[in-house]
Amino acid sequence: MAFTLPDLPYANDALEPHIDARTMEIHHDKHHAAYVSKANDALAGSPLDGKDVETVVKNLGQLPADKQTAVRNNAGGHWNHSLFWQVMGPGAGGNPSGDLGAAIDSAFGSFDAFKEKFAAAAATRFGSGWAWLCVHPGGKVDVCSTANQDNPLMKDSIGDAAGCGGHPILGLDVWEHAYYLNYQNRRPDYIGAFWNVVNWAKVAELYAAAK
Ligand code: MN
Repeated sequence: MAFTLPDLPYANDALEPHIDARTMEIHHDKHHAAYVSKANDALAGSPLDGKDVETVVKNLGQLPADKQTAVRNNAGGHWNHSLFWQVMGPGAGGNPSGDLGAAIDSAFGSFDAFKEKFAAAAATRFGSGWAWLCVHPGGKVDVCSTANQDNPLMKDSIGDAAGCGGHPILGLDVWEHAYYLNYQNRRPDYIGAFWNVVNWAKVAELYAAAK
């Protein structure tokens, strides 16, 4: 079964003023759609054809060498954006509570200290990439970043390029296509605005499932 583009779980303008409708429209309908289509092209007839996207990104090494880069970039892009849409929402923001809040406090000292570390990971990623909050077995969380459409789940195939190698439960896209229309070169302003749209209830659900 080929990958399909998931619908945004809210309207294009639902995250305004923090993320504008036109950016969301192009980002989802053009960029994410292209990752899906190119991933399907690259996977066709390969040993991972028909597998779910998480299995694909965890097992890039099972692909022929001439397919690995295209699948890494495009199935990675599909996984990453599918998470990104889910962990944002209208009327969101605030603080994580429950087990996730406790895990963040335990790992970073406080929610504010976590936000600083995550924002620094996003701001200092040179060029295009992502910042992540990841879970490790046992429930410990940490922050890392990866380049391009790489993802911590790719650890077995791409080594250190996969950052911390945990399971991402929050991701922030810092490619220019994610913010340039509204924020131009001001990536830190976009990162600051992101906190207003993080859907912590969803992130907590992903934490419970991943730990
Ligand atoms: Mn993107």
